[in-house]
Amino acid sequence: MKDPLLSLRGLRVWFKVGDGLFRRKRDLRAVDGVDLELGVGEALGIVGESGCGKSTLARAILRLLPATSGQVVWLGRAIEAESVAGMRPLRRDMQIIFQDPLASLDPRLTVGEIVAEPLRVHAPQMSAAERRSAVTQMLQRVGLPADVINRYPHEFSGGQCQRIGIARAMVLRPKLLVCDEPVSALDVSIQAQIVNLLQDLKRDFGMSILFVSHNLAVVRNLCDRVIVLYLGKPVEIAPTRLLYEAPAHPYTRGLLDAVPIPDPELQPQRLGTALGGELPSPLAPPSGCVFRTRCPKAIPGCARQEPQMKTFAGLRQVACLRHGEDERPGGGG
Ligand code: SF4
Repeated sequence: MKDPLLSLRGLRVWFKVGDGLFRRKRDLRAVDGVDLELGVGEALGIVGESGCGKSTLARAILRLLPATSGQVVWLGRAIEAESVAGMRPLRRDMQIIFQDPLASLDPRLTVGEIVAEPLRVHAPQMSAAERRSAVTQMLQRVGLPADVINRYPHEFSGGQCQRIGIARAMVLRPKLLVCDEPVSALDVSIQAQIVNLLQDLKRDFGMSILFVSHNLAVVRNLCDRVIVLYLGKPVEIAPTRLLYEAPAHPYTRGLLDAVPIPDPELQPQRLGTALGGELPSPLAPPSGCVFRTRCPKAIPGCARQEPQMKTFAGLRQVACLRHGEDERPGGGG
């Protein structure tokens, strides 16, 4: 990839978790060694079940959570150890929208004040009239009438609140928009509208998108590539079409078997059923391949050896000891 916007090198985010009153603390490996590049204008989906480290990864990229080790490289500059002051000028180019649209908006501020807030912080040279004009334009661009600026968040539906959140994130024209389960709390018909809006904004403004979701159906419509996480580790990275038409990792196949039903409440439960078994605790991940306790293709060697990400046909990366067996002489299963 030529001059990526963002690169991750061996990124880890571990938390110390107490285990009883006198026992020593243990490491919860929320993100455990992610290597990744995100191109300028590329939309990348981050998928996996709840507890797989998707949101932690997104927050660590934005430096909202500290990295335990590894590198976050933004436009060629390592930022994982950057101070709060050092991050401030970069923040205008890295914006986020959240899962719960209403909770993410300050109820004491009008919509106009909410959307204008990033401009006050990052573009203090703008006059009040310029700010108002920029806010009004962006609200209209996300499908809201200009007269909403004097109203408060509680007066709006979930979908409208998410549009306000998107307007707030986009008013600075960021280079990267991180979307953390942005449609999970919305009705299915509204989900499609918000995804269409994000597609339109990406086309018009050319920003890169990191789209976190447990719902692969949503990711398919928006993203160019997808990274699949399991217990904080990437197990497959592939162009979206390839991943959906020919999933390579058994976990990706399990996720796709659970797709889709148009019910955001039931979808996470279906994922568990289709995959079989429970997600192991990240405090005590299985030895070898972390997916082996739920994998229909597991063999004894999977408990001894941790699979590394390998590139196949120059297109996709897969972390599975058995991937490609069929193509090898004498391979099976
Ligand atoms: S390495 Fe073994 S357990 Fe892991 S995904 Fe591959 S076959 Fe399954």
